[in-house]
Amino acid sequence: MEYRNLGASGLRVSELSFGSWVTFNKQVDHKLAEHMFGTCFDAGINFFDNAEGYEAGQSEIVMGKALQSLNRPRDSYCVSSKVYFGCHGSPLPTQQGLSRKHVTEACHQALERLQVDYLDLYFCHRADPHTPIGETVWAMHNLVTQGKVLYWGTSEWTADEISQAYEFAKENHLTPPSMEQPQYNLLDRERFEVEYAPLYEKYGLGTTIWSPLASGALTGKYLDGIPDDSRASLPGYEWLRERMVESDRGQERMQKVAKLLPLAQELGVSLSQLAITWCLQNPNVSTVILGASRVAQLEENLKALKAGPLLTDDVLAQLTSI
Ligand code: NDP
Repeated sequence: MEYRNLGASGLRVSELSFGSWVTFNKQVDHKLAEHMFGTCFDAGINFFDNAEGYEAGQSEIVMGKALQSLNRPRDSYCVSSKVYFGCHGSPLPTQQGLSRKHVTEACHQALERLQVDYLDLYFCHRADPHTPIGETVWAMHNLVTQGKVLYWGTSEWTADEISQAYEFAKENHLTPPSMEQPQYNLLDRERFEVEYAPLYEKYGLGTTIWSPLASGALTGKYLDGIPDDSRASLPGYEWLRERMVESDRGQERMQKVAKLLPLAQELGVSLSQLAITWCLQNPNVSTVILGASRVAQLEENLKALKAGPLLTDDVLAQLTSI
C-alpha cells in the first residue's frame, strides 16, 4: 500500500480506503465488518468512510462496534462521518442540512455511534441551499478548534461552492476545507477532471473518491441481467437499479462496460481491478474508497494495487476512447 497526502494537508491516507454505504447494516453485520476491517488493516488501509445518512445512522453503529472489537490503536487509522441528510427517515428541519445546529449535533451523534473521541474527516455530504456557506465554515472551524474534527471537507459541491468556502475561511482566518468527496470512475469523469481542475493547485484540494466501480457496474456482472445477490436487487434501491441498468443512460453505460470487459481479460485482470487501478493513476486522487459486500470482493479489489504497470499509454488511450 502506498500513502498519499490528503491534498495540501499533512494527513497521509492509504491510496485505497474502505466505505460502508449500502453495505454496513444491510448486507454486512458487525462480525463480518470486523473480518473486513482485519483484511483492510492487513493490506495497509488506514481510512474508513461513513455518514450519518447511511442506514439512518446504523452503519456508523456497525462500524463503531467492529472497530471496538478489533481494538487497534486510535492513532493507527482514520474514520469519517458526513452531515447533511440526517439520520431519521423524515428528519425535522433542525435534524438535517448544514446549519450550525445540525453540523454540531450530527458531529456529537456520530462520535457516539462510532465510539470515538474525534472524527479524522468530517464532510458536508451535499451543499445546503438554505444555509449561508459562511455559517457552515464557522461551524466546522469551531469543531476543529474543539478537537472534535481534524479535517473537514465537502462532498459533491460545485467548484464555485468549494471556492466560496475557501475564500470565506481565508478572509476570516478560519480553517478551510481540506478535501472533497466526489464520484470518480471510468464512466463518471467530467466533474473530477474538468470542473474541479482549477481547485487542485489553487487550494491544494484533497479528494476521497467514491464508487470507483460505479456501484458494481464496472465489474461486468450486470451485463447478463441483475444478479439476485447484488446491490441493484436490494429492496429500497430500486432507484439505483433503474439508474444503473434499466434507464437509457444505464443501457448506454452497459454498452461501454461490454467493451471494457474484453480489454481487462486481454490484460489478465478482472474489470474491477482495471477500473480501480485506473482511478489510482490520477495524481489528484488522494484515496479511492472501496465498497464490498463480501470479503472475497475486497480481496479481489485490493489486487488492483499491483495492476498499475498495465496502464500503458496505449491501454489508457483505449480506455478513454471507450
Ligand atoms: P463501488 O462502486 O466500488 O461499489 C461497491 C459494490 O460493488 C460492492 O458493495 C458490491 O456490491 C460490488 N462489488 C465490489 N467489488 C466487487 C467484485 N470484485 N465483484 C463483484 N461485485 C463487486 O463503491 P461504492 O458505491 O460502495 O462506494 C464506495 C464508498 O464511497 C461507499 O462505501 C461510501 O463510503 C462512499 N460513497 C460516498 C458517496 C457520497 O455521496 N459522498 C456516495 C456513494 C458512496 P454487491 O455485492 O451488493 O453487488
